[in-house]
Amino acid sequence: VRLYNTTSGVARADDDGLALLGTAHPDVAALLGDHDIDPSTAPVRGRVALDDVELISPVTHGGRVFLVGANYRDHIEEAGLAMPKRVGGLPLPSGILSGPVDDIRLPAEAPNEVDYEGEIAILIGQPGHEIAPGDGWNHIAGLCAANDVSARDVQHSGMADGRVTDIARVRLGKSFPSFKPIGPCILTIDEARSYPRLSLSTRVNGEVRQSATTDDMVFDLSAIVEGMSMATDLRPGDLILTGTPAGIGLTTGRFLQAGDVVEVTVSGIGTLRNQVVAPVEPH
Ligand code: MG
Repeated sequence: VRLYNTTSGVARADDDGLALLGTAHPDVAALLGDHDIDPSTAPVRGRVALDDVELISPVTHGGRVFLVGANYRDHIEEAGLAMPKRVGGLPLPSGILSGPVDDIRLPAEAPNEVDYEGEIAILIGQPGHEIAPGDGWNHIAGLCAANDVSARDVQHSGMADGRVTDIARVRLGKSFPSFKPIGPCILTIDEARSYPRLSLSTRVNGEVRQSATTDDMVFDLSAIVEGMSMATDLRPGDLILTGTPAGIGLTTGRFLQAGDVVEVTVSGIGTLRNQVVAPVEPH
């Protein structure tokens, strides 16, 4: 099932468009965290065409965000990083997620090295701590696309030789407003697992910059959840960004500029399409 969050409420995709659900959940994460309701059969109160609604972030209320780095072999190579032995995740402030068509605004403080990271994000549906190997799947509600937008100059002012020296700077570089668009829907994990693999690509102004599949991951989606649960009590509504493949702007020096359009596509889920806009002029 593909579940969308719109300005008219939570909706389920079907053959003809979107079925607006008659439940009172404020976002898709809340719907999927309510285990008394099956989203594939939840009552419908109206219908709309996908083109006639405004899509917003499928996760708008609470929930924590964790960033996993170094999880695609080609990116680890490109960045000169060591092959990770275990899963680690950087926690971000909550409330920073934005929607699948929202603008990415260059920060006035750091507009020159803003970069994309196309990623697959995991939405947690079942709480868990120290989850057993292979059992991570049972804690995943669904998946979406994400762009882990990063101001490299700020991020790297908190790093030396690939290691974090000032976590606040690293976190700031990744948490400016509008830096975490997700969506366009949540694909429920039962359906996501019916595909042998998912493909992920990032385009800037139509040019493909990143292209990979989940086969290229060091830790698969279940192992990421299991690994994160060793240090954290995962809760429904938490979102884990699972790392980016090779092809980031940092490698080529081609950073995002005002007017660029960045698209992140995950097979079976859809495309984030975010325009990059200039910093707000001071008054
Ligand atoms: Mg990332």
